[in-house]
This record gives sequence, structure tokens and C-alpha cells, in this order.
Amino acid sequence: MENRPYIFISPSKYVQGAGAIGELGAHVAPLGDRVLVLGGKSGLAATRAGRAESFAKHNLTEREEPFGGESSEREIARVADIAKSGGFNVLMACGGGKAIDTTKAAAAQLGLPCAVVPTVASNDSPCSSLSVIYGDDGTFDRLLLLGRNPDLVLVDTAIIAAAPVRQLVSGMGDALATWFEAEVGYGVGAINVPGGLITQSAMALAKLCADTLFEFGVGAKIACENNIVTPALERVVEANTLLSGIGFESGSVSIAHALSSGLAAVPGAHEHTHGELVAFCLLTQLIMQAASHETVTRVFGFCKSVGLPTTLADIGAQPGEPLRRAAEVTAGGGGPSGNLPFPCSARAIYDAMISVDAVGRMMA
Ligand SMILES: [Zn+2]
Repeated sequence: MENRPYIFISPSKYVQGAGAIGELGAHVAPLGDRVLVLGGKSGLAATRAGRAESFAKHNLTEREEPFGGESSEREIARVADIAKSGGFNVLMACGGGKAIDTTKAAAAQLGLPCAVVPTVASNDSPCSSLSVIYGDDGTFDRLLLLGRNPDLVLVDTAIIAAAPVRQLVSGMGDALATWFEAEVGYGVGAINVPGGLITQSAMALAKLCADTLFEFGVGAKIACENNIVTPALERVVEANTLLSGIGFESGSVSIAHALSSGLAAVPGAHEHTHGELVAFCLLTQLIMQAASHETVTRVFGFCKSVGLPTTLADIGAQPGEPLRRAAEVTAGGGGPSGNLPFPCSARAIYDAMISVDAVGRMMA
């Protein structure tokens, strides 16, 4: 295309606050009145009382459906079948990334409105228009572009504050990479998820995402450790969920995300969360792009301050063959390697990871 347009996408409505679950019915009512709610045990339990009360106020009927555990083709088809045969007209996820991805995909398949109630702030799935698809055994399969964002994302920060602190910190790792990845993409005219050029708006939100984490990350972690909601926690939850979600799909991803998928196959690293791996891979990306001493120091320091990985040991990996293979997969076909203003051979990636590890151990 000669004149590719700039494109920016986002969820239709984003609601966040302590006790926001009490408003859920009011925001869902315009979408439909028969709601199928998918979630894991803890996601359903954390939202059950607030959901029931606010749904009753707005005459909404609901049915809870326990999530099968993987956002696989089979699980998506199962949920879509239940929604269809039960005559539901809204699909809702209450839980984490995989339950959300399944719900978004099933809703898109049926052409029904989708509401998302994240009960952890561990990743940037809630606001996005894509689902990560896994096999029934949990191995990564592919990214599914849905062509539409959720109609409603509602985050109750009191629920997030009560969730494990590791989830919040993981979300910071995922969100931290957003600005640095978008910046690389913007510089080379990268095409974003909706197939357009990156807008200034997406760049401004991505920048705000990083600035928010640097300023309030430690404060938010302390709040979560004490199960309390503070302005710092509110800001970081917004960064992890809204700013990061918009920033990655209306901006672009780069090495930090490409390499994190490769690393997920490394024994040991597999046990770590998406956001933890992305944080280590962001450090790798910064070394590869020869980021300034100031930037590298700042990001290493931030990771240390909130407990994100800075060494191979921190992600359960070590130098050697599996790590080399992860670098090869990342540098090979399909990755973002053709879209970067710096060398991205397997060797360059591997050496950068070793360099991160050395710096991380030095700072320990
Ligand atoms: Zn991510």
C-alpha cells in the first residue's frame, strides 16, 4: 500500500477503581442481559458477590462457567457452544490472561459483546484485540487476531491488591517493555497489530506507561504486599492494563517480546511468568540497541527495585545450548529481526543475554 494510514485501537470503555465491581451491572447492561461468565476458581470467587449484587440491580442474568485452564481451540469452541445453546448475549471473563484470551476469542467467533474483569494485573491481555492460543498441553501455538477490542474492561483495584504480589510485579515487567519496544518500531515505521502506522497518541501512552512505572512501581508493590489500594497502585494497575495494552498493539513489539516467546521453551525459564521473561528480554534488547548508560542503568535499577529478573539464574536458565536455540528461533524467520535498526543475529541475541547476566550478577 502506498499511503498506509495511521491506526489506533482500544477497548470501548475502561473502568478502574477500588470497589468498581459494584458498578459492573451498570456498565454491562447496555451490552446485553444474559451474561456467560468464564473464569478460574479464584477469578470467579473474587468477583462473585459484587457481580451478583450489581447484576441483580440491573436485571441481568448470569451463569458461571469454570475455565478449562488453557486458551486452546478446543476450549474456545466449548465456551462458544455453551454461549450459543444457552442464548447468552454477552461473554465475560473474570480472571487472568488465559481465561480472558479464551473469552475474547469465543465472543469474536459469535459476534457477541465481550466484557473483561481482570482479577490480576499481570499482563496486557485485557484491553487488546488478540488472543494467545495454546495447545491443550499448554505449548504456545499462535497469536489470533480478533479484529476487535473488548467492549468493556473493568478493573477493581481492591481485587488486584488482594491478589499475589508476583502477579502485579510480572505485569510491571510486561508493561516496562512497552515504551522501549514501541520506540524501536516507531523509528523504523513498523506496522502495528491493526495493520497501520503508529500514531503519536500510542507513543504518548507508551511513554506514560514507562514513566508511571519508574515513578510509582515500588509504591504499588508495597501497597499490594499490604493488600491496600493507594494512588500508586491505581496508577500502576492502569499502566499494566490499559497503557501497556494500547502501547503494544497500537505501538509495536520488538526483541523483548519476540525473545520472551523463544525463552519460554527453555527448561527452567518455562516456570516463569510472561512478564518476568519480558523484563529479562527487555534488558537484552537494550544491550543490543546500545542504549545509553543512563537508560540501561535505570531499567536494571528498576528491575532490581521491584524484584524482576536481571540474571539468567533469576529466570532459571544458564549459558549453553537451550539458550542458543532460543536465540536462533528469535533471529530466524517470522521474528521482528528484519524490522530493527540494529543487528539481530542469533549470535547478537545470545551475547546480549550473557551480557545482561554479567551486569545483573555484578549489581547483585
Ligand atoms: Zn506482553
